[in-house]
Amino acid sequence: MKIFKIVQDKQKSLRMRSTPIAKEDLNQYKALGLEMLEYLKMSQDDEFAEKYHVQPGIGLAAPQIDKNIRLIAVYIKDENKEVSYVLANPIIVSKSVKEAYLTNGEGCLSVPKKHEGYVYRSYKVTIEAYSYLDDKMITFKAKDLLAIALQHEIDHLDGVLYYDHIDKLEPFKIKDSAIAL
Ligand SMILES: [Zn+2]
Repeated sequence: MKIFKIVQDKQKSLRMRSTPIAKEDLNQYKALGLEMLEYLKMSQDDEFAEKYHVQPGIGLAAPQIDKNIRLIAVYIKDENKEVSYVLANPIIVSKSVKEAYLTNGEGCLSVPKKHEGYVYRSYKVTIEAYSYLDDKMITFKAKDLLAIALQHEIDHLDGVLYYDHIDKLEPFKIKDSAIAL
């Protein structure tokens, strides 16, 4: 089990556009991707998180561990189900006009200071990526929190942080058409 050192938001690697992983290099990053997923899983275990001083997270992007490659992991678990993704070169191929936001705002392992305000994102997205859990290209639809987490992580690959999306003048502006999650 690898305890990653998470890069914080003042560091350059979080503001850079990350490089796609070439087809011939895909295999070489599989182990890292799986370790990122494992890290997320363990971070949601209270005992582990406390022992190793890690913040619980549902998503992690390679730039957050100081590697500017297009690789992300997402792990979301609730009473009903758990979903895991380890994706190389994820692309949002379509997104809904309908938006959603988290009423508690977003958080990020790389952002120690909480930035208050709503982040509006597409409620549904369709993603195309190379999946390390399937060892092939996949296309899938996501909605709700999963869609938000994927958009947040893909933003990291382009050097974008969640608070870039918060309205500076009216951080808690309500968009009536958006779904509150
Ligand atoms: Zn983040």
